[in-house]
Amino acid sequence: MNDCIFCKILAGDIPSDQVYRDEQVTAFRDIHPVAPTHVLIIPNKHIAAVNDLTAADESLVGHMFTVAKEIAAEEGISQSGYRLIINNGPDGGQVVFHLHLHLLGGQRMRHPMG
Ligand code: 5GP
Ligand code: ZN
Repeated sequence: MNDCIFCKILAGDIPSDQVYRDEQVTAFRDIHPVAPTHVLIIPNKHIAAVNDLTAADESLVGHMFTVAKEIAAEEGISQSGYRLIINNGPDGGQVVFHLHLHLLGGQRMRHPMG
């Protein structure tokens, strides 16, 4: 029994505002956006966190970034800029334990350190 909320979104059991999908990844808008563009890019297979990645996932993770770049272009924020974030574990601020890449843009971000 998989009770992962993002797996349920992938299965269509929970609705989402999907912006992209291919055989490897899916992207949808964050339910609580913290910027005008806030999209989550996730693998279609369940990987809990960066801690669980293996060398076999390297092309998948690279693809997540390529898709993020393409969505940024579609959102019209390529030139204004954007931030890509992956939180890992409690101190990293990870709340949902299905790997996801945050794409944030459409406003000037504050400096992230600390
Ligand atoms: P984390 O803190 O784990 O890096 O980020 C999890 C993100 O998932 C949060 O920004 C949160 O708003 C988002 N989120 C949590 N539940 C849902 C949901 O059911 N649908 C969508 N679209 N986003 C969600
Ligand atoms: Zn999952």
